[in-house]
Amino acid sequence: MFRQALEDLQASTDAAFLPDHPWVAGASRRFISFFDASFLDTGGRYFWPTFFASVAVLGIGYALRPDWRARWGREGFLRFCFPRGFFSHPSTWTDLKINLANYMIMPLVNVFWRYNGAWFAVAVAAGMTTLLGPAPHVLEWNFWTLLGFTILLAVFDDFGYWVWHYLAHKVPALWAFHKVHHSAEVLTPLVAGRVHPLEAMALPVFRSAASSLIAGPALYFFVSEGQVLKVFGMSIVAAVFAAAGDQLFHAHVPISWGKRLNRIFISPATHQIHHSIELRHWDKNMGAFLAVWDWMFGTLYLPDSHQQLTYGVAPDIVQPHPGLVSAWLRPFLDAIPGRIRRLRWLSRRRVVP
Ligand SMILES: [Zn+2]
Ligand SMILES: [Zn+2]
Repeated sequence: MFRQALEDLQASTDAAFLPDHPWVAGASRRFISFFDASFLDTGGRYFWPTFFASVAVLGIGYALRPDWRARWGREGFLRFCFPRGFFSHPSTWTDLKINLANYMIMPLVNVFWRYNGAWFAVAVAAGMTTLLGPAPHVLEWNFWTLLGFTILLAVFDDFGYWVWHYLAHKVPALWAFHKVHHSAEVLTPLVAGRVHPLEAMALPVFRSAASSLIAGPALYFFVSEGQVLKVFGMSIVAAVFAAAGDQLFHAHVPISWGKRLNRIFISPATHQIHHSIELRHWDKNMGAFLAVWDWMFGTLYLPDSHQQLTYGVAPDIVQPHPGLVSAWLRPFLDAIPGRIRRLRWLSRRRVVP
């Protein structure tokens, strides 16, 4: 029904603008497809099964935690899921604008689109052919090899995310852009899309490059191209992760997997620490799915399921990105080396606690 309504809207805007103003029709088509692609399409940032899975996880938390019911539940479960003031907060409106504006411009500005997983996998396989000789193609795909391929691909993809995220925190010029994500003052699922377009372009390159370390050898050794095992159109690893409530990474309550599992998998509470303004939390918990990278490289900070955090860039910094224009343009100024040195708020490292 929702999709039909979007299609009707698209048909009427096409009829109104297509003959005389094709660019307006194109822009409106893209605008309408934002809602389609984000909520109804597999891989959309807010794909509906992942949304309902997150509500279910919230429901379990609500049932298990009397303190949450006492604090949030006076007005009922729905108000607990959508707390008063969170979705009308200026920070959330900026999140929404960035989500939408990024979606509108990405096809126009994404200069790295060519460097996707297929490009890197073919490059790695070609490199192996040069070094080791012609591809033997000796291995056959079956359920277990496909399962192993699916899991390893997700693990390496996650490592690519971690490497990018680590560099985004440690290299001042990259931090200038990544800071847009950290400037959110309240956490709602929309913060996942609060990223600078440059980061939205660069991150997939790192993920593709890392996952090609699995996809490339697979092309070289197997008789045919491997297919990732899927459910709901998502990789089973992504689906499991979504079922565990990955949209709650940016939520108002700290959902934790417990001390042991938190060392292996990132929980919402783990990522919420990543957004904390407290000095001891800076540059911690950079993983997307696995916490083992943070554990291995000394950047893991284990969460507390009763933690109460304040979110933002740093304690004494005025919101650097109050709106879309500052979120898109200010990082370019911030990334100029001379300014990085001069302006204290550009690098949190220069803030004296
Ligand atoms: Zn970060
Ligand atoms: Zn985040």
